[in-house]
Amino acid sequence: MKAATFEYARVDSVEHACRLLDERGPEAKLLAGGQSLVPMMAMRLARPSWLIDVNAVAELRTSYQRGDLWVTGATVRQVDIERDAAAARAVPLIRQGLHWVGHVQTKNRGTVGGSLVHADPSAELPLVAQTLGAQFVLRSSRGVRTLDASEFFVAPMVTATEPDECLTEVHWPIWRGERTGSAFDEISIRHGDYAIVAACAQVELDRAGRCVKLALGVGGASGTPVAMDDIADQLVGTALEDAAIEQAVQAVARHLDPASDVHASAAYRLHLARTLGARVLRAARASALAIPAH
Ligand SMILES: Cc1cc2nc3c(=O)[nH]c(=O)nc-3n(C[C@H](O)[C@H](O)[C@H](O)COP(=O)(O)OP(=O)(O)OC[C@H]3O[C@@H](n4cnc5c(N)ncnc54)[C@H](O)[C@@H]3O)c2cc1C
Repeated sequence: MKAATFEYARVDSVEHACRLLDERGPEAKLLAGGQSLVPMMAMRLARPSWLIDVNAVAELRTSYQRGDLWVTGATVRQVDIERDAAAARAVPLIRQGLHWVGHVQTKNRGTVGGSLVHADPSAELPLVAQTLGAQFVLRSSRGVRTLDASEFFVAPMVTATEPDECLTEVHWPIWRGERTGSAFDEISIRHGDYAIVAACAQVELDRAGRCVKLALGVGGASGTPVAMDDIADQLVGTALEDAAIEQAVQAVARHLDPASDVHASAAYRLHLARTLGARVLRAARASALAIPAH
């Protein structure tokens, strides 16, 4: 099948993109890497009347540290942020999550913002954003607003982005603690497929090896990725012993509402959520413990 007829405009500023979104109405869509939108159009699951291509907008391609945040413009290519050593030092989970995303060919075109707005419940970058509490800057002809990840992800493939809004920046929190470790893991049918279930964790330890800060998230087991804040609260103050981790992850089911499909039953997804949750917590602890205490 081929895409339904559409008009195409290439813009070189966010203002121009927003003006066109405003003028053309909700049938217009922004085109970033095209790795999700174009296949959906080819299958006629999406029939935008206008494609507004933002790939030439220079301000959307920047990636840099600002204070305690790593800022990525929406059209930063997934491969570029994955290979950016400074970004990996600042927010290692971005690289660790991207390791599991698609293939180098899809990451050469696919963008950070496109993946986040597409909001597949099994996608890796949305999971990292939800787990760390990233913030999303949305611009339209009406103004600018900033949303927390918890407000941004609404339902499967649905975000709080209005049809006239352009995601411009994502702000990823940088954890400053010296002994910070993180891990991402998932189960998928083949490497590069969307996850059946994915989990990621980041922990900060004090000199004695006690956990002072922790984030844990699970994707693929609910309509949106889920940050497990109460499990994090339960584990802060412990030394993240295996027994404490095992006990804490038993509560993941409380936060999840997995579906059954051809790939996995709901019960298997819950089993994976617990298993992967414990696995990433142990791996994050190990990477933090490997950093000498000063
Ligand atoms: C073979 C294959 C395997 C893949 N495997 C995985 C995988 O394992 N994990 C994974 O997470 N993804 C996977 N993907 C999807 C890939 O990561 C896409 O790049 C991503 O989902 C969409 O990013 P994009 O830049 O291509 O966006 P597009 O396809 O261009 O756009 C996606 C959506 O976001 C909207 N949009 C884009 N940019 C903006 C913006 N700045 N503001 C507002 N709206 C915007 C578009 O209008 C559209 O609705 C795979 C894709 C392919 C083809």
